[in-house]
Amino acid sequence: MGLLTGKTAIITGASKGIGKGIAVAFAKAGANVAFTYLSSVEKGQALEEELKQYGTGVKGFRSDASKMDDAESLISDVIEAFGGVDVVVNNAGITKDTLLMRMTEEDFNRVIEVNLNSVFNMTKAVQRTFLKQRSGSIINISSVVGVKGNAGQSNYAASKAGIIGFTKSIALELGSRNIRCNAIAPGFIETEMTAVLDEKTVQHWRDSIPLKRGGSPEDVANACLFLASDMGGYISGQVLNVCGGMLT
Ligand code: NAP
Repeated sequence: MGLLTGKTAIITGASKGIGKGIAVAFAKAGANVAFTYLSSVEKGQALEEELKQYGTGVKGFRSDASKMDDAESLISDVIEAFGGVDVVVNNAGITKDTLLMRMTEEDFNRVIEVNLNSVFNMTKAVQRTFLKQRSGSIINISSVVGVKGNAGQSNYAASKAGIIGFTKSIALELGSRNIRCNAIAPGFIETEMTAVLDEKTVQHWRDSIPLKRGGSPEDVANACLFLASDMGGYISGQVLNVCGGMLT
């Protein structure tokens, strides 16, 4: 029996990177996995095929996490396909990094919409199901940048700090119904999102991390697995830094 056998999980933004790592870890742990993507349609379809080898129910959806209507239809489609939802991982996210001086209103708003409104949309859409069944685990992917800030990422940092405030509030609001809500704050995780950076900068980051390496999607997925499963049953309202010791 896997840690998530019998559970159904939704993971947003799983066509690549951390979300994909979470989808794989959850399917390996026995969960039915519903996941979303937006622009990477081929990668999303390939992941659906890849996950089938683990023998659980799997379904990919093209769904824009920043749109409330999409979140609502996603939840009803997943319930129709799998008969319920037990875990939601809000992972979809983007960056539009630049100094405030050059940041447009559009750059600011889009990052907030995709990274923060998405968490509101999915939590709101799944709330009724979780309340009815008197259980549920929500895991929101924030960032160490949301905890400590970062020059050149004021839009991203604001969205990720917003996720933390939202997470703590939902944990307080829904705890009495056995609904848990936690955030994970990854540090430097090596994915497509970071592959565009130059190697010298990346090596400098690795050297400054106490564990002397960037994290992998699996490192974040393992923390999600713990919080999604009954092993994390008494943990709510927390921010778990998965950052190789970067934040202490
Ligand atoms: P990534 O490789 O760029 O993947 C981002 C994922 O989000 C993709 O699957 C993308 O799908 C999806 N996505 C983007 N906009 C979407 C939307 N509107 N609706 C649905 N899906 C959408 O990024 P990553 O590094 O894995 O990051 C995943 C999460 O971890 C993000 O929230 C990020 O902020 C956070 N994080 C990352 C790091 C890091 O070092 N990598 C550190 C801290 C936190 P499509 O390509 O199909 O659009």
